[in-house]
Parts: sequence; structure tokens; C-alpha cells
Amino acid sequence: MDCSGCNRCTEINCSIDTKCQQLDRSLMDKYGAISFPIYQTATFAHPGLGQSTGYDYTRMQNPTRQQLESIVSYLENGTDAIAFSSGMAAVATVMELLQPGDHFIIDSDLYGGSIRLFNEISKKNGLTFTAANLSTDDIRPLIQDNTKAVYLETPTNPMMNVTDIEELSRAAHENGLILIVDNTFLSPYFQNPLDLGADIVIHSGTKFLGGHHDTIGGFVVVKDKAIDERLRFLYKTTGAGLSPFDSWLILRGIRTLAVRLERAQENALKLARFLKLNKHVTKVIYPGLEDHPGYNIMKKQARGFGAMLTFEVDSVSFAKAILNNVELIYFAESLGGTETLITYPITQTHADVPKDVLEKNGINDRVLRLSVGIEGINDLICEFNRVFSVAEKICG
Ligand SMILES: *Cc1c(COP(=O)(O)O)cnc(C)c1O
Repeated sequence: MDCSGCNRCTEINCSIDTKCQQLDRSLMDKYGAISFPIYQTATFAHPGLGQSTGYDYTRMQNPTRQQLESIVSYLENGTDAIAFSSGMAAVATVMELLQPGDHFIIDSDLYGGSIRLFNEISKKNGLTFTAANLSTDDIRPLIQDNTKAVYLETPTNPMMNVTDIEELSRAAHENGLILIVDNTFLSPYFQNPLDLGADIVIHSGTKFLGGHHDTIGGFVVVKDKAIDERLRFLYKTTGAGLSPFDSWLILRGIRTLAVRLERAQENALKLARFLKLNKHVTKVIYPGLEDHPGYNIMKKQARGFGAMLTFEVDSVSFAKAILNNVELIYFAESLGGTETLITYPITQTHADVPKDVLEKNGINDRVLRLSVGIEGINDLICEFNRVFSVAEKICG
């Protein structure tokens, strides 16, 4: 590994675990604070007329945010990362790259908020889109003269469909389309879509990067200069930049990204195997199970399988009884934190997704999603044994 030009350590063969600890030394101040300071300022003094320290106004640049952007870009092997006030602000700004009249292709199983944005805002702005199952369908027949981009998540939310990013990027680039990958579910610790051919990577920093359910943030990571310049222009113009304090929280979250994800993934695999044995569980979808259809693609393109798993139970009342009786596990929206959360996609994350789309993707009222945390695995299993027996009594 050639580390020349890296403003961080001088170590060679730096692993991603080490990368999470490496601040951009060129941005550090003369005091050498290891916890990078929170530059809680709206504006910056100019040394003189026509001069700038490189920082003029926090909507455009802020040192704390820049330190964070630098490490996220470093982790994703990009040339730049831009930090937004939320994942949705990041998605909305990326959509501003398209012009009225443009068409794009999306995966039909996406984060509900993204589908809401495409339906309620992108359409009004003169964009059209076609949804397909990108893990199985060829995009070529869907491409129109005005098609500009392909947008997906892999594994998908919540059905865990896995798309071969390299193959899709080939098909996209042969047709002059840009490939946009929302990499929130795996985080840069497990998957780097830019290396596989994607042009733009999006993250909800609220999730694994922040890692503690204590802040909201988002990222766009790029490797192309023209796309970067346009996004930086949109960013300073629309003003959805991440605040200095929230930047600092996510910087701190990234320090433990590797250990959190290793532990959460280990728990997720054990829970998936455990859930499979329960007679009320009709389906367990986790890409780290060998019978998952995307298992081999995951092996090829990712360094792990993540901490998200979806399962289906045999009745609606059983699903509701689980949600109403969890104690150790929280019934809450979101994912990617240290504590295990259980979500009901049909009424929560996917409430605004049209019914026919939900049906087509197999998201019904018996489907539950887990974001597995870093608790002791025996305690998680104990919790499920207890909840299942309570649910059995309720459902008779
Ligand atoms: C949460 C999430 C988003 C939106 O991010 P916010 O930070 O909540 O705005 C986008 N994509 C995926 C996959 C998510 O899980």
C-alpha cells in the first residue's frame, strides 16, 4: 500500500481499523489536541483584504466538519466527502444533480424516506423514475434516452436483497449513467462501493458512523472532480451542512466503528441462527447465512455481512405481541447504534411506501427488522426466549 500523500500516519499497510483512528494531521492545530476541537463559530476573521484562512463562514467550511469529512472520504476511498445535517439532506442534494426532464432507475426496496423524496419532491421537480429489483433485473431494458442515474442500497432495507455493484456499474457506465449507492447498512467498515465502480456513495451518518443514536447526520462521498464541485456548490447554496458539535459526535463515533461492527455482526449471525430454530419464525433474512441468495456476492464485494437482520413470524398478532413486550431490546426506529432496536417497517420506516410496492417486496405486517447491537449475546437470546413465550401466551 502506498501511503504517500496521506496526511495521517506514516505506517504502511494501514487497516481500516487503524484508519478509524487516524485524524488528518494537516488540519490539526498547534496544540495537538487528540480529541479534535469543536469550532463552534459561525464566521471567521479575515487576515486582510482579499485574504482568507481557508475558512470564511460555517455554512461553507468549518474545521470540525472538515476533519470529519476528511476521515469519511478516507474510509470510503473517495476524493471528497460532504457532511450534511441528515442522510435525507444528503439524498436530496444528490438529486439536485439531475435536471427537469431527466429519468433515473431505482431499486424498488429502498429506505422509505428516499422513496418519499422521489415520489413527493423529485417528481414535482420534473424527474421521472422506474423502480426495479436491481438484485435480479437487468437495467438495460429500462434505460431511456433521458436516463441519467441508477440509485440503490445493498443489502436493501429491509429485505436484504444483495446487488452486485461491480456488474451494475459496468451496465450503468456502458450507458453513460452515474451509479449512486446508499451504503448506510454496511458502512465503510464493511463495504466501499466507490472501489466497485460506484460514482457517488451516500450515508446516513445517524446510523453506524455515529453509532450511538445521539445525533442525525449524512454524507455524500465522491471520486469525480466535476461532480464534487457541483455538489459543493449545491451544499453552500442550500445550506444543509452538519453543525460543528454534531460533526464532533460523529468523529467520535467513528473511533469505535471497527469494534462496534465486529461485535454487532457476531451477535447478528448468532441471533439469525437462533431465530431460525423458532417454530413461530417463518423466515430469517440475513446475508451472512449461507442459504441467503446474496451470500456469495457479499463474500466477493464486502468485508462482512453487517448487523441488520429481518425476520417474519407466523401471525400479525404474534408480531405485535413481540413489539409490545420487548424489554431489553428497544422498539424504536433507526439502526446502527450500540443497543439492539426492533422496528416494524410497515408502520414505521416504510409507512409512506405505496402498498403495491410493499407487497411486491414481501414487506407485510408480519415482518420485523432488527438492528443488532453490542449487548451480550446470551442476554439477547434470553430476551427473545422470554418475549416469544409471552407472545405465545397472548396469541394462544
Ligand atoms: C436512515 C436512513 C436514511 C436517512 O437518513 P437520516 O439521517 O435519517 O436522514 C437513508 N438511507 C438509509 C439506508 C437509512 O437507513
